[in-house]
Amino acid sequence: MPMDLRVGDIVETKKQHPCGNNRFQILRTGIDFRVKCLGCDKQIWIERPKLEKRIKKVERSEEKQIIK
Ligand SMILES: [Zn+2]
Repeated sequence: MPMDLRVGDIVETKKQHPCGNNRFQILRTGIDFRVKCLGCDKQIWIERPKLEKRIKKVERSEEKQIIK
């Protein structure tokens, strides 16, 4: 079952971005996700399965809760 990921969620990944940051904001969902690195503001397209595998934690800001 696919993970519950929504636009605006912040995901923490196991692997760091080259800038040293490991938190990304989801900008677009779908087969391919568009995420923004919160360290350097770079936007990346990534396939959903690849992203899901790398996620360590999801933060949903509006509800102030940690899903995983
Ligand atoms: Zn970065």
